[in-house]
Amino acid sequence: MPTHDWKLVIHGGAGIIERDSLGREEEQNIRAALQHALDTGASILATGGSALEAVEATVKELEDDPHFNAGRGAVFTYQGSSELDAAIMDGNGRRSGAVAGATATKNPVTLARAVMEQSPHVMLSGAGADEFSRQQDLEQAEPEWFAIPERQRQLEEMKQSGGWFDIDMKYGTVGAVALDGQGHVAAATSTGGITGKRWGRIGDSPIIGAGTYADDRAGAVSATGSGEFFIRASAAHEICARMRLLGESAAQAADAVIADVGALGGNGGVIVVSAAGEAVWSFNSSGMYRGKASAEGSVVAIYGDE
Ligand code: ASP
Repeated sequence: MPTHDWKLVIHGGAGIIERDSLGREEEQNIRAALQHALDTGASILATGGSALEAVEATVKELEDDPHFNAGRGAVFTYQGSSELDAAIMDGNGRRSGAVAGATATKNPVTLARAVMEQSPHVMLSGAGADEFSRQQDLEQAEPEWFAIPERQRQLEEMKQSGGWFDIDMKYGTVGAVALDGQGHVAAATSTGGITGKRWGRIGDSPIIGAGTYADDRAGAVSATGSGEFFIRASAAHEICARMRLLGESAAQAADAVIADVGALGGNGGVIVVSAAGEAVWSFNSSGMYRGKASAEGSVVAIYGDE
């Protein structure tokens, strides 16, 4: 019998997301995609499934949806390729798996879970991650599967701007955190990173403790935003540590760490569930694609207010 009320929170990336910049149809499509992903995870949790299963299944849905910068629809590197980062963590025993710069696995979050469960390691990268994926018989995908025309356009725009990478923060990284009926938490995050990234750049998403963390003693966190700053703040672990060691609520801990990321010059947001049953988000960007679900119902939101 479930002893806890289950909770699920998801994000589909943070950034400069304003009403004028999203067309009405696009907005509706994104809201529907978020709702669909929430429903997937919610049905697992409502029928006694684990937080780990729920976050993997939810992130897979978002990876397959081209609206988001993960799996299909991932942003391009400077060379025009897709290099995918993902992580998953089980708060029960703090087991974790992650991949950076994977290029051929259809669902990078599933590869991250395989690293956790089928290898003695926590993180694999590049060609080695691809090789491990093939050995595990995970579903492979051609580069064309990940690539969509809008990401090509964004890469051209970024190159013309002459910056290091996409300064407009067209994010769209995806993540999920869950508390299941047994009181266990889990987190997963998946991303293509940032448009125009080079030199094997790795962001916060696959780094355990930066973009992804879960600990049954505190809660679970998935981040999105300017990854370099979330790495420097050890954002996801810091939120869990504040809850565990300072006794802060999930909202207090999330707000404090987002304020710290902001003070360093970064922006973005986090989603958090606590082992005590809180389900919150915090962000300092103008918007964040997000949603939450529990036995009481669900809600999706995009802008600062709704
Ligand atoms: N945090 C991701 C990264 O820096 C990007 C994002 O959240 O959209 O790779």
